[in-house]
Formats: sequence, C-alpha cells, structure tokens
Amino acid sequence: MIYQKHKQWFYNCQKLAQKHDSMGRYGLVAIAVKGSRILSIGYNSYPSKKSGGSLHKLYTGFGVHAELDLLSSNECANSVVYIAGYTNKGTEICSKPCGRCSTLLLNSQVKSIVFLNTQGILEILPRENLDITIRDWR
Ligand SMILES: [Zn+2]
Repeated sequence: MIYQKHKQWFYNCQKLAQKHDSMGRYGLVAIAVKGSRILSIGYNSYPSKKSGGSLHKLYTGFGVHAELDLLSSNECANSVVYIAGYTNKGTEICSKPCGRCSTLLLNSQVKSIVFLNTQGILEILPRENLDITIRDWR
C-alpha cells in the first residue's frame, strides 16, 4: 500500500532527479529515508562523470548506479529507499532497481523500496520481495 508519506518522499526524489545532470543521458536519483530524515542520497553516473557521491570521487572512470552511490555514501539500514529517474528530454522512466542493485539493497538491510514501474505506476516493494535475478544488469 502506497501511503501519502511515500508519495511525498517520491515527489522529493523526482525533484532531485529532474535537477541531476546526467550528461544528457538517463538521470536517476535514490534517497534513503528513515522516519522523517534523509540518511543518504545517491546519483547515477556515466564514465567520466565527476560529481556526485563518494564513489564518484574514487572511481571517476566508471559509471555507477544511483543505488550503489546511495549505499556507499551512508548507512541505510531500516530505511525506505525512493528511486526516480528521467530521460534527458524530461520524460519520467521506470526506476525499478536492476538485479545487482536489488541484491545490494537487500544486503544493506533496506526496509522497502519505492519506484516507478514499467506501467508508470508507483510501486512499493518490501525487501523480502526484491527480485535479485541479475539478467537485467547492464
Ligand atoms: Zn542497478
């Protein structure tokens, strides 16, 4: 069930994603929220992108998914993670985490994730229902 607070935090995440400079490609942002506090913010990046979270400074030559950036920037246990993304044309995209990131979120004791599914509908997934198949990793 999607509560009003989930919609509110997802909206905040959308605002950050709209502002995220992803070098003219897909821009994704993930935020981890516990209670009414943001624990961490993660930004996706592509090779050569230099700004963003801690990982970007360490590995400037690699692309990093927003979820990995989120988890490497701060402790996210027992948080709800919101993920939103846009194309460079400003169209909102499906923000379901890939199998690899789902595994990372699971291992980091994240409580649940909220994202936009392929039908454009806001979805909340408790950690026990995360799909950790890695076929969609890219
Ligand atoms: Zn991923």
